[in-house]
Amino acid sequence: MKDTMRAVVKNKPEPGVSITDVPVPEAKKDEVLIKVIKASICGTDIGIYDWGDWAKGHITPPIVIGHEVVGEILEINSDDPRDLKIGDLVSSETHIYCGQCYQCGVGNAHICENMKLFGISRDGAFAEYATLPIATTWKNDPTIPVDQMSVQEPLGNAVNVVTTANVPGKRVLIYGLGPTGLCAAAVAKAYGAHVVTGIDPSKFRQNLGKEMGCDETFDAVSKERLGSFDIVLEMSGNKQATEEAFEAARLCGTIIAFGIPKEKICIDWGKYMINKELTIKSIFGRMIWDTWHRTSDLLLSKKVDLGKIITHELKLEEFEKAMEIMKSGEAGKIILTP
Ligand SMILES: [Zn+2]
Ligand SMILES: [Zn+2]
Repeated sequence: MKDTMRAVVKNKPEPGVSITDVPVPEAKKDEVLIKVIKASICGTDIGIYDWGDWAKGHITPPIVIGHEVVGEILEINSDDPRDLKIGDLVSSETHIYCGQCYQCGVGNAHICENMKLFGISRDGAFAEYATLPIATTWKNDPTIPVDQMSVQEPLGNAVNVVTTANVPGKRVLIYGLGPTGLCAAAVAKAYGAHVVTGIDPSKFRQNLGKEMGCDETFDAVSKERLGSFDIVLEMSGNKQATEEAFEAARLCGTIIAFGIPKEKICIDWGKYMINKELTIKSIFGRMIWDTWHRTSDLLLSKKVDLGKIITHELKLEEFEKAMEIMKSGEAGKIILTP
């Protein structure tokens, strides 16, 4: 095997990345080495590229970025590799947990107090090879299309959001039809929502929304329909949408908060939290491994077809071009191939 590999590296604490040669990583104890087959670009990667506030607080360059991945196991360095074997097609849970803290102990490893993040606080997958801790390596069912295996991470977020909301028979409103919002539309329909309404300013994304399962899509919620939705999924991180979510939910409705706004959100506590008897729950990532099993089931049963949101496939070298396409709003998921 060669010593160096091509990788997308956040080299300096400033906007941009370099596409450069770095040493091939070695699998440390209880890790696997994978050959990356496909990796998909996440909204987080744009924030890292632009060097936004979130990235500044979470990344210490140099780091190989990228966390949504499928790869083939080349090496296993462990006496206890679970059911993993050389040649398996695997993906990575991004939230790398410690297994020791209070939250890990009570079944909330996804929100571990000492969490590390794949492709953010340790080297990730926009490269020819990557190493993954065995504890956060997910073995894929080989009958799932390979392209879709790397997109399970955002689909998993959507699964966790939708299952938390209890959608059967309900009127569901989704703010934001980015990849996770689009996945949420598909999952909400698959899980029996009565009507799914998608809101996004981009016509391109509205059309994707209809293909993925939205019954209707709009630029904005009309005044007369505010207060008529049983469940509001805030997937946009847009300040105005996040504030409007409290108005859009009906009395005793549920809001699931997923999108991360750049600014602080101000809400009228008495008007919404008391008088409306709202239920509000935030979601940060996927339950390990509960959400992954559900995600896999949706793909295997073809109740969700992630192929519809994969709009572009580019070479790893074309990362800058991929950033331009993502920022244009005319993209669902972009897959990179090393
Ligand atoms: Zn992601
Ligand atoms: Zn922990």
